[in-house]
Amino acid sequence: VSTLLLTVTVLTTCLFALATQDGAKKFDYQSDVARLRKIVINRDVFLRELISNANDALEKLRLTSLTDPEVLHGAEQMNITLRAYKDEDGSSRLVITDTGIGMSPEELTANLGTLAKSGTTEFLAKAESTDTTGTGNLIGAFGLGFYSSFLVSDRVYVASLAAPSSANPNPTQHVFSSSADESTFEVYPDPRGNSLGRGTEITLVLRDDALEYMDTTKIMDLVNKHSSFATSFPVYLFTQR
Ligand code: ADP
Ligand code: MG
Repeated sequence: VSTLLLTVTVLTTCLFALATQDGAKKFDYQSDVARLRKIVINRDVFLRELISNANDALEKLRLTSLTDPEVLHGAEQMNITLRAYKDEDGSSRLVITDTGIGMSPEELTANLGTLAKSGTTEFLAKAESTDTTGTGNLIGAFGLGFYSSFLVSDRVYVASLAAPSSANPNPTQHVFSSSADESTFEVYPDPRGNSLGRGTEITLVLRDDALEYMDTTKIMDLVNKHSSFATSFPVYLFTQR
C-alpha cells in the first residue's frame, strides 16, 4: 500500500476565513484537551489521525459507490490534500481535505461533538490508568481520534459536504467549529456554499507553539514516515510560492 506524495505549487491562497454565522447553535461538550496535551508528548501523531480519518471516509465512499454510483456525483476524485497557509487574520493554518463520504450537519454533531464517540476517551482512560511511559504504544492501539487536532490548535473548523444519498439527495455543506478554550462547538451552514464538491475539510488554526507544522518539508516528512501506511489514497501536498 503506497502513498503517492506530490508537491503542487500554488501561487496564491484565496481562502477566506470561515466566519461564525449568527444564529449558530451552540452545544456544550466536556473538553479533555488539557489532559490530552499533558499525556501526549509527540504531537506529530495528530496528522496520522486526521489522515486515517480521511482514509476511512474515502473507503466508505468507495464501498458505497459499488452499489450506489450516485455518491460520486460532485467530485470524481478520491484523494487527500494538505495545505498550509497564512490567513488574512494573521493566523497560520493547516488544512486537511478529503473527497470522502462527508458528513451531514447531524453527523458533524454526533461524530465530532462528543468525546464519547471519539477514540480519545478510550485513550485517556487507558493512559491515565496505566503507566504513561507506555503512551506511545497506546496511540498505536487505540488511536487518538479527531481530538488530537487540539494538540496543535486551539480552534478547529470542519467543513463537510455529505455524498448525496437517497435519504439526502441534496446535501448542503456545513461547518463544525470548535474551540479548546471555550469547550463548546457550533454547527452552521457554510457561507461558501457547497464549495467542496464532496467530502471534508479540516482547518487547524495552529497554536503559536506549533508553527513548525506550516513547514511543508516537515509535513512531507511526517506523511512519509508515519502516515503512508494510514492510507491507500493519493496524498497531495500544496506548497506556497
Ligand atoms: P474513530 O476514527 O476512531 O471513529 P475519530 O475521533 O477519529 O474516531 O473520529 C470520530 C468520527 O468522526 C469517525 O468515526 C467518523 O464518523 C467521523 N469523521 C472524522 N473525520 C472524518 C472525515 N474526514 N470524514 C468523514 N467522517 C469523519
Ligand atoms: Mg479516527
